Amino acid sequence: MGVKIEKAAPSGFCSGVGRALEIVTRVARERGGVEMLGAVVHNARVMAELEALGCRVVTSPADIRGGAVVTSAHGVSPELEDELKRRGIEVISTTCPFVRRAQTAARELARKGFLVVVYGEAAHPEVKGILGWAGGPGIATLDTGFLASLQPLPRRIGVVSQTTQVPAQFQRFIKKLVSAAFTQNSDFRLLDTICHDIRERQAQAARLATRVDLMLIVGGRESANTRHLARLVARITPTHRVASAGEISQSWLAGKQRIGVVGGASTPESALEEVLSRLKELTSDHGQSG
Ligand code: SF4
Repeated sequence: MGVKIEKAAPSGFCSGVGRALEIVTRVARERGGVEMLGAVVHNARVMAELEALGCRVVTSPADIRGGAVVTSAHGVSPELEDELKRRGIEVISTTCPFVRRAQTAARELARKGFLVVVYGEAAHPEVKGILGWAGGPGIATLDTGFLASLQPLPRRIGVVSQTTQVPAQFQRFIKKLVSAAFTQNSDFRLLDTICHDIRERQAQAARLATRVDLMLIVGGRESANTRHLARLVARITPTHRVASAGEISQSWLAGKQRIGVVGGASTPESALEEVLSRLKELTSDHGQSG
């Protein structure tokens, strides 16, 4: 029997990344290039294509030389946007609508006097931006260890999530938080801001992982959603994460009869197709067909 290779759906760009790329590509074509504050998407191949259109990545606002800058789908804090505008720089936002939802939720919670807790990676630009929208003291974390330093707990605690987190892990975090807050007369608000695309992508990838003996997760090294996807399916079946087809090692495929492939939200369809073709080549080198 030949090796069965199956691609999970959805794979390839999510709606937010597709939208961000459309905006930056259009602006770059109209203006012969534009500066981007950080990578618009965390994918080296896509970024190289944008650079070929005249786009240039700047890592700090201080490095912006032109009169306009594109901000990423992860969004930025209102303070940063204001600072850029004060300097007379046109801000071309590609903030994903799902990220905007998390930002406005954080702002509303803070306005109502809640301590804003963002379930997410503190160093990730999206999480920094969401905290910025809360506009005051807030906490970004992936564990409930912070509770020990908050005794007594603030009466009002509001929680949102980084859009790309794993729902089951967010749920565990919330349960711990609720049980800590339960006897302390707390007012607890939860806004589930995990993005629909990510939820569906993770669910389909996890389903596929139960049917295969190897999963390949395709995506850029910097991509948070690809990292979360890999962590999720690795609990179900052996998993490798690759940025491109060239990284696939034949040794991974020995004895595997069913292989699943899924791409992160910032992975172009072309990278997935290359991985699928490479897998077919490598498995037929074993004397098997894809
Ligand atoms: S993963 Fe979700 S939140 Fe992030 S850019 Fe894509 S659609 Fe938006």
